[in-house]
Amino acid sequence: MEKLKNYINGRWVESAADQASSVVNPATQEVLGHVPMGIGTAKDLDEAVKSAHDAYLEWRNVPVMQRVQPLYKLKVLLEQNQEEISRIITLECGKTIVESRAELQRAIENVETACATPTLIQSEFSENIARGVDEFMIRQPLGVCVCIAPFNFPGMIPFWFLPYAIACGNSFILKPSEKVPLTMMKVFELMENIGLPDGLVNLVHGGKETVDAMLEHPKVKAVSFVGSTNIARYIYSKGAANGKRVQAQGGAKNPVVIMPDADLDVTANIIADSVYGCAGQRCLAASNIITVGDTNGRIKESVFEAAKKKVTGFGLDESVEMGPVISSQSKSRVEMLIDQGIAEGGNLLLDGRGYQVSGYQKGNFIAPTILEGLPLGGELVKTEIFGPVMSLLPMQDIEQAISFINANNYGNMACVFTSSGASARKFRNEADAGNIGINIGVAAPMAQFPFSGWNESFFGDLHGQGRHGIEFFTQTKVVIERWPREWTRKF
Ligand code: NAD
Repeated sequence: MEKLKNYINGRWVESAADQASSVVNPATQEVLGHVPMGIGTAKDLDEAVKSAHDAYLEWRNVPVMQRVQPLYKLKVLLEQNQEEISRIITLECGKTIVESRAELQRAIENVETACATPTLIQSEFSENIARGVDEFMIRQPLGVCVCIAPFNFPGMIPFWFLPYAIACGNSFILKPSEKVPLTMMKVFELMENIGLPDGLVNLVHGGKETVDAMLEHPKVKAVSFVGSTNIARYIYSKGAANGKRVQAQGGAKNPVVIMPDADLDVTANIIADSVYGCAGQRCLAASNIITVGDTNGRIKESVFEAAKKKVTGFGLDESVEMGPVISSQSKSRVEMLIDQGIAEGGNLLLDGRGYQVSGYQKGNFIAPTILEGLPLGGELVKTEIFGPVMSLLPMQDIEQAISFINANNYGNMACVFTSSGASARKFRNEADAGNIGINIGVAAPMAQFPFSGWNESFFGDLHGQGRHGIEFFTQTKVVIERWPREWTRKF
């Protein structure tokens, strides 16, 4: 099978790579394509940067009202092709078709929000800071911006950055995850028809070599990364050491607190959706379910029932509610972590290991799993599992819950279920996480808001999406201005 092509300077071109890795359907193990990998990908990246830089020099002078016109066309094309793109997401990533459609909807919302750039990019003006002297700030683009994306939202995550970057006058290079490159290849095919100049948006495949070439290239000005914490830390430190602006979103271990006054029937279903949606491969998946006071005994059965009835299988089957995990390595890792939980003293209430789906025997399926009785000082309550595993952790009160949450290294999301305004307020005020849910299971910010990870879930200052996107993809310039006719004294 041929290697997948890169999209550079407005054309689909062969990679100079000498190696390749396979794109594999996680439900069937069918090979869907071969991604260029290895040393030659650095040469590909260099070519992409050259064309992106040339395109930027022209594009930065195009009025912002004109720069957003292609985004309106892109929105329509994404909507018209939503079903086809969603199918590609499901085929290469494994999630259900319903989840893929919802993912793409979030991508479209980011395009819509970036269409407001003419307003969002407006800046500040102070008249008469001294007699006859005015001062103002303008926002100018940075140049070539790059994005390194993870596997779990192949259709959405590049859109946290791409539309804002180009609307602000930058050019853009995307490196999709080597596990799921086909979704954005389809989107880039659509982007050939929206009126962007050649070289403005580029797609370069690869892995570490491509990423290192991005971090080292002097013409790359900004790096947007989403992925696991260790790699986020690496990208942030190497990018910053090379003088680049970096936003690096990392991993997570998300707690949800259930107070005794919560509506437990509704809560049980919401929690099961949060833990098992996308087979637990969401950076906002709930993982540690903290049951306060007598809640554990009262909710355990309904959580168990909600988990048990989830239909696991091939994502294109509309009746399926949970797909496979991304790879056989990932399946082994998650099952090993379940073993570790048991070894730490956990009691397996529901065991999803070794789950077989009829007709898809080779799929990387793990059914919903529930552990309880894990030691609070153990490793499993701290480790990002990234699979369909729930840990039930009884605690005495909200104070204990918040101090347990704040002792964790991550800080992507924390949620509370309660009918008490006082508990909700205390929680949102004191929990150390950047995305808070009050009676919400997946506190995913809409496109107008920043995707606000904290602690080891984020390295940088400005997050993806919304106004943060505009600020990240522009640099401020302050002008102090006096005109001779306004001079009030002679020099
Ligand atoms: P990953 O870190 O393995 O890969 C992410 C990207 O980094 C890929 O494009 C990959 O090619 C590249 N990469 C991998 N190893 C590298 C290396 N050694 N040097 C340079 N680049 C490297 O992450 P993943 O498995 O694709 O995604 C899952 C992770 O992403 C989870 O930890 C999840 O929590 C996190 N995530 C976070 C958010 C968020 O907003 N915080 C959103 C989605 C996913």
